[in-house]
Amino acid sequence: MDCIFCKIISGEIPAEIIHRDDEIVAFRDINPEAPVHLLIVPVKHIETITDIDTEDQNLVGRMVFVAKQLCEQEGISESGFRMVLNCREHGGQEVYHLHIHVLGGRAMRWPPG
Ligand code: 5GP
Ligand code: ZN
Repeated sequence: MDCIFCKIISGEIPAEIIHRDDEIVAFRDINPEAPVHLLIVPVKHIETITDIDTEDQNLVGRMVFVAKQLCEQEGISESGFRMVLNCREHGGQEVYHLHIHVLGGRAMRWPPG
């Protein structure tokens, strides 16, 4: 499949992988927008959050839990962070393989652009 995140999961494209289990992989964003910028992705190729099925609910919950654990590992739990999930055109999604961004290590602004 011609999907950059599937290729990172399979090892075809290198990335700094910081978590891997049967269902979820996490790695550092290639173009970080903050001192800590992680991407948490399901191994299963799901294009967007609008494409999840009933049986994917636990998977998405696990993605958030892994993100929370990685925040502890990265030392940004106390200072805080932002989790972002962009969906389709208006959400600014560029890679159509479901992912949660974790951004931290600096104060974020609100509202987003
Ligand atoms: P989106 O806009 O789809 O929510 O975010 C996609 C993210 O994937 C962007 O922040 C972008 O920098 C990151 N990204 C795109 N290609 C690669 C890649 O080949 N490797 C890594 N590590 N990150 C990537
Ligand atoms: Zn994919």
